[in-house]
Amino acid sequence: MNHEIEALLREDLRGKSPYGAPQIDVPVALNTNENAYALSEAVRDRIAAYIGAELEHLNRYPDRDATALREDLAAYLGHGLEADNVWAANGSNEILQQLLQAFGGPGRTALGFMPSYSMHPLLARGTGTAFTDAGRHGDYTLDAEYVAARVKEHDPDVVFLVSPNNPTGTALDPETVRAAYEAARGVVVVDEAYAEFARDPESTALNLLAGRPRMVVTRTMSKAFAFAGARVGYLAADPSVVEALLLVRLPYHLSAITQAAARGALASAGELQAEVDQLRAQRDRIVETVRHWGLPVADSDANFVLMGGLADPHAVWSELLDRGVLVRDIGLAGRLRITAGTPDETTAFLEALRDTLRKRPDLFAND
Ligand SMILES: *Cc1c(COP(=O)(O)O)cnc(C)c1O
Repeated sequence: MNHEIEALLREDLRGKSPYGAPQIDVPVALNTNENAYALSEAVRDRIAAYIGAELEHLNRYPDRDATALREDLAAYLGHGLEADNVWAANGSNEILQQLLQAFGGPGRTALGFMPSYSMHPLLARGTGTAFTDAGRHGDYTLDAEYVAARVKEHDPDVVFLVSPNNPTGTALDPETVRAAYEAARGVVVVDEAYAEFARDPESTALNLLAGRPRMVVTRTMSKAFAFAGARVGYLAADPSVVEALLLVRLPYHLSAITQAAARGALASAGELQAEVDQLRAQRDRIVETVRHWGLPVADSDANFVLMGGLADPHAVWSELLDRGVLVRDIGLAGRLRITAGTPDETTAFLEALRDTLRKRPDLFAND
């Protein structure tokens, strides 16, 4: 960075690195937890029709409050939620940023339990919110007692829970979420980006919203809806939380085209479910196969798997890349994260891994 610019930059941002999952062009990309399936032609046609109907009005600003989309999202979520319980933005990342703008900010704190979603600390930094990492047990699990104790100890303005968690893949039990809420004075955000992939989708924190006005459940269309490129995320919470976010959102933040595209995709939820089921099956196939080969791996509730037993994860990452398969080195000792792909992509990963296991046994932990 040019020194003159760096000198003008906020002190807390100087020398920092941006979010940067590598975007490498490879035959099999299993590194960013995207949905492996492109939208079908029927779904694309439906989305195009929704967008087409908006083009006539593109000279006008969009519905600032995204009312129709929020009605559709509420209907999709069920659990007795209505449009005023729901808010939508450009990816759940923007939802999380708005939550920090409204409830965090300079002089305030957020608490997270890392390893978890790497954007929570980055969004905290961008909004001037101090972020504290309360860590996890040695095996990366969390329980009610641990979470409640850390929340009481730090007394944060915002608590981030992630269930199913990225990068570990594990869901929190509802007892842990309840305990965090009871221990907290501030807003408790449950990031459920992978909720649709959970082994028990009914374990969602949506069940806990009634009577808990400080609890917020965030979701995204990036994963289950195969919609990462469209940038649509949303939350469910008490209507007062939505009112608070109206104070910080940019006017017309969600374009008419995005709102229409999201409504077209929501109208296709039933068709997209078959692919979610297929991805869950491929995820379980990775867990079972890798476990059979002696590598430790926890059951996953997401569309990815955290594989352990690697003496040199970065070298395994590079061996896999040489074989055309890109996975994620998240910098965790002994581990790599692999997104479940189509059956063919999953086969390509498993074959690349088996070949690496044979040719470079030195890269794997032998205990
Ligand atoms: C992928 C992911 C998101 C999604 O972010 P979008 O901005 O909606 O694409 C949110 N939270 C977690 C934990 C994720 O892994």
